[in-house]
Amino acid sequence: MKHDNSFTFAGKKTWITGHRGMLGSALVRSLSKEGADLLVASSQELDLRNQSAVIDWVDKNRPEYVFHAGAKVGGIHANATLSAMFLYDNLMIQTNVIDAAYKFGVRKLLFVASNCTYPKEAAQPISEDALLTGPLEENIRSYAIGKIAGIEMCRAYRKQYGCDYFSVIPPNLYGPGDNYHPQHGHVVAGILRRAHEAKIAGQNELVVWGDGTARREILYVDDLADAMKGLMATQVTDDLFNVGCDHDLSIAELAALIIEVVGFEGRIVYDKNKPNGTMRKLLDSSRIRAIGWRPQIDERTGLQSAYKDFLELLETQGGGGRL
Ligand code: GDP
Repeated sequence: MKHDNSFTFAGKKTWITGHRGMLGSALVRSLSKEGADLLVASSQELDLRNQSAVIDWVDKNRPEYVFHAGAKVGGIHANATLSAMFLYDNLMIQTNVIDAAYKFGVRKLLFVASNCTYPKEAAQPISEDALLTGPLEENIRSYAIGKIAGIEMCRAYRKQYGCDYFSVIPPNLYGPGDNYHPQHGHVVAGILRRAHEAKIAGQNELVVWGDGTARREILYVDDLADAMKGLMATQVTDDLFNVGCDHDLSIAELAALIIEVVGFEGRIVYDKNKPNGTMRKLLDSSRIRAIGWRPQIDERTGLQSAYKDFLELLETQGGGGRL
């Protein structure tokens, strides 16, 4: 990323919301290396859904920079079944964080949105201008509408109050710190876990949801953290950035790559009772490319590192937490 080389987060009061999640912990890894004065609060210490608690906390801690990565997230099944919770929690959390940031003079805030905010039938690759141009995929509509509200809130605060608040749209994220819950996780974590369990149990079949033809662009979480850090360090005029890797895989291709990494040697069968969701959502990332960012981790390397994380989690947690 070509950015103001004189800029560093060293000593800067930087709040990372959701610091225990996959993205938040990648941001903590990256920003602590740079010597940022990190501000974090666990959900027990600070319930981001509680407006007065957020106002008090921001007043007391006075962050200069905010990476707003804290949100309720989940894969296609979680979104279809927990839509009320996703909508309520995310609207409350982001509204409280963004407004408190404005009230206490946060210099710059980066909101993490999602590729599901784009219309289901958007032209590929999807540019930032496609937002709000058509109907959303129904399984993820509540979550998407919450995220669209966050993008719009940053835009409105920028327009009305002159705040330097803006948003990123990543593709499907994966990597260390992922949630491997069998129903609630995203596609990479879900297949990775079942492939491992099938290998250990000596099964000869692995079930993959949908019919394998939907396509997904996947991004290693440290690559997104790097892009976000670069954007925060750069004077940008746009208020929305796609942060992708310019190519996608069919779910069948992705599953084949995951089973190779895991070492499962049986065959893949498809559960067509599970939805495919949006058939394709490849991002057009030329806007962020123009300011010099590109991903560093290829899919095979990233999946190997995700599998290592999963194995460590099995050893240390034996079934709790992210499992
Ligand atoms: P989405 O991009 O918002 O749809 O989120 P996901 O990360 O949940 O990806 C869903 C896509 O992966 C759909 O096409 C699913 O049919 C497919 N898929 C295949 N196996 C799995 C799995 O084990 N978990 C999840 N979440 N999706 C899977």
